[in-house]
Amino acid sequence: MLPPFKILDTNSVADAVHELARLGDQAKLYSGGTELLILLRHNLLRTEYLLNIKPIAELGQVHCVDNSVRIGASVTHRRLETDPTIRDRLPMFADAESQVANIRVRSQGTIGGNLCFNDPHSDPATALLVYDASVTIQGSNGARQMPLQQFLCGMYSTALEPEELLVSVDVPCLPARWGSSYLRIHRLQRPTLTVAAAASRRNGAIDDVRLAVGCVGPMAVRLTELEAKIRAGAPNDSRKIIKESKAYLKKTLEPIDDLLGSAEYKIYIAGVLLERALVRALQSVEKKQDGNNG
Ligand SMILES: Cc1cc2nc3c(=O)[nH]c(=O)nc-3n(C[C@H](O)[C@H](O)[C@H](O)COP(=O)(O)OP(=O)(O)OC[C@H]3O[C@@H](n4cnc5c(N)ncnc54)[C@H](O)[C@@H]3O)c2cc1C
Repeated sequence: MLPPFKILDTNSVADAVHELARLGDQAKLYSGGTELLILLRHNLLRTEYLLNIKPIAELGQVHCVDNSVRIGASVTHRRLETDPTIRDRLPMFADAESQVANIRVRSQGTIGGNLCFNDPHSDPATALLVYDASVTIQGSNGARQMPLQQFLCGMYSTALEPEELLVSVDVPCLPARWGSSYLRIHRLQRPTLTVAAAASRRNGAIDDVRLAVGCVGPMAVRLTELEAKIRAGAPNDSRKIIKESKAYLKKTLEPIDDLLGSAEYKIYIAGVLLERALVRALQSVEKKQDGNNG
């Protein structure tokens, strides 16, 4: 049984911010409700009001701004999986979105709800970190923007203040001639481990690289130190570098032993998937080049 609550529709970001300030602890923002309703049903959350932000047109938009794509917070996973702009400009992100849960959760759950809940077992953040995504947040003191990595503070925790809402995610396209890849493993619907890689080549070497891993620890993380070691090296050397980076991965990813596996196993599999995702990202660069030459 769900406990009783009232749903209040909001029609603009200003309206939602005003209601959040007015109702304080008595209200929770409500988008797709896939997470919220589970919490309410299991008595893990009590609230008098759900502020429905889905009627806010601005939050449901996807549009290109220069070389980025701006995604409104209430855009669903299903739209991100299928939208031609996302598939064309952010193909690896569209692929990650296509692997979220099942069609019901993808049709209802939103990117804003996903990032704001910051469940460690999620897909989008890992992919978005590799795109250097940033978020725009609005509160009664105005709007602020920050890199996604800074927004994700820890397990189920973000930089959102109580009276703020996430408005949009800005995702810069990868530079031309980069390839990318997203991999995940799962035993249940939510992922057990996620890896995203993007890379470019020059004269047979890896010119530039970005790597991120999710689900191993409290939140998805970019692996900047590992990237620096791989950058400018030969693709074959990257395999050895990743294998030798177990201590760095352990320190950065903060794995724990749990029902999904031991910390040691998770670090081992993270290394395997990182190698595999990097190879696939580099292969997709080659495919692009072959396509351009052919
Ligand atoms: C069976 C099942 C399987 C799942 N599998 C996966 C999976 O494989 N991969 C994956 O990534 N996720 C998975 N999820 C999680 C779910 O898909 C996402 O977390 C979903 O995107 C949440 O979005 P929502 O709109 O439903 O959030 P809601 O439930 O509406 O909200 C979640 C939280 O975010 C807050 N919130 C929502 N929007 C905003 C906003 N704009 N600004 C500030 N706060 C906001 C709410 O107040 C609430 O605290 C799964 C969920 C279920 C139930």
